[in-house]
Amino acid sequence: MSSNIEIKRICQFCEQEFIARTTVTKYCSLKCSSRAYKARTRNIKIEKSNKETHRTQNEHIEKIKAKEFLTVRDVSNLLGCSIRTVYRLIENGTIKAVNLAERLTRIKRSELNKVMEQPRNEPKKKADPIPFHIKDGYTLTEIEDKFGISESGLKYLIKKNNIPKVKNGRYAYVPKKVIDELLT
Ligand SMILES: [Zn+2]
Repeated sequence: MSSNIEIKRICQFCEQEFIARTTVTKYCSLKCSSRAYKARTRNIKIEKSNKETHRTQNEHIEKIKAKEFLTVRDVSNLLGCSIRTVYRLIENGTIKAVNLAERLTRIKRSELNKVMEQPRNEPKKKADPIPFHIKDGYTLTEIEDKFGISESGLKYLIKKNNIPKVKNGRYAYVPKKVIDELLT
């Protein structure tokens, strides 16, 4: 391969310009060539180790998947979230758990499956977009005055019946028609 050609090249290791004598020369010097070789070997080793870690993790997950009763840590591994998050999901009732004793929380596999089978990111029962005109709506205060209902009672009623609300400035409007039907 040797020839008397001179080609300007950039060393692939130190990134300095050098004059190459062959078209396939990649490095400016033996030093760079051997350093590059070492780096390559190291990368291969790292990759191998990463793969190994990944395999172990997968095996671990498979083991968890076979369990009927899961620990909080198992669930966090399965869901790929923190232990704290799992506790929060348990607290807010998303995941049903059994508290056998202090620090002995178990989650039934089937319960977790139920949670995981729930459609993802489905918007929480959005109120139907009945975009009624606010002139066809009451403000909450109007309803309270007209029907003698308390603020909390009204809020409960709106929530329970999933009554659409339209906000306009500081006021929230709900459709007169629905309210009249419900309260008269
Ligand atoms: Zn070099």
